[in-house]
Amino acid sequence: MNALFDYQVLLDEILKEHRKHAERGQLASYIPELKKADPKMAGVALMTTRGLFEAGDTAVNFTLQSISKVISLLVALEHRGVEAVFAKVGSEPTGDSFNSIVKLETSEQKPLNPMINAGAIAVCSLIPGQSVEERFGLIAGLLEKILARPIEIDESVYRSEKETGHRNRALAYFLKDINGLEGDVEEVLDLYFRQCSILVNCADLARIGMFLATKGINEAGSPIVSANAVRLASTFMVTCGMYNGSGEFAIQVGIPAKSGIAGGILGVVPGRYGVATFGPALDRKGNSVVGISMLRRLSEVLDLSIF
Ligand code: GLU
Repeated sequence: MNALFDYQVLLDEILKEHRKHAERGQLASYIPELKKADPKMAGVALMTTRGLFEAGDTAVNFTLQSISKVISLLVALEHRGVEAVFAKVGSEPTGDSFNSIVKLETSEQKPLNPMINAGAIAVCSLIPGQSVEERFGLIAGLLEKILARPIEIDESVYRSEKETGHRNRALAYFLKDINGLEGDVEEVLDLYFRQCSILVNCADLARIGMFLATKGINEAGSPIVSANAVRLASTFMVTCGMYNGSGEFAIQVGIPAKSGIAGGILGVVPGRYGVATFGPALDRKGNSVVGISMLRRLSEVLDLSIF
């Protein structure tokens, strides 16, 4: 891209053209607190070597939800090592829904990958610490190093999910039974619900994307995470980051990405950009409708596909 390219004009145009698609989606409802979001919101942010460009609702806070799985995977890989992590989770995509329990009994007795709930819960159990606070401190601490600001959680989303997360509880107890989860089940779930409730905005996600795009270097130029951990996390984002829509997303957008049911999408364009979208109305697969629509256009214009 030429040095004078006007990213701001591009993002403004994309937002204007695609905002209408937000109305085609549905808010996530199985965590009651998420139903309160405004489905018309839409934001897009691009972190470049020339700084951050953003358009729309990029300063609105929302919860990380499944996007947090990328961060806790990095923490587990760094603190426990590749072998310990892959002893508990596999590396294959799944055609089942993100919170499915069916394969746990029928496949090789470990979650297929760390991006589905069962895998992410198993990964959480590997994060070291004497207490949930200490373990959560490692996840929040990594984000604080990336974003250079303190991290908070949305207490009401956290409580809402803790009270209603029966399926996740079932997954965790099943994992414990098959020796797939280390430590106390309720403590691991507490850690998982906390990481899902971390508050970010769209601009933060673009910064996290750039951190991954530069193989683990933060904006101040310090290496925070090993390039190998980033490579593994980014690969999982390609094969399973967009739920059962990962294949179609790879064809249409072509970048490592992770979405969450609060409406965020974190995208990585290796060596070039961090890109992010926000829009809480979701398609049937659980991905933000306006987010996917904006990312498709952005990918076309900036030639983002890594394939
Ligand atoms: N907290 C949600 C859950 O575990 C995250 C789901 C998501 O964003 O995919 O069910």
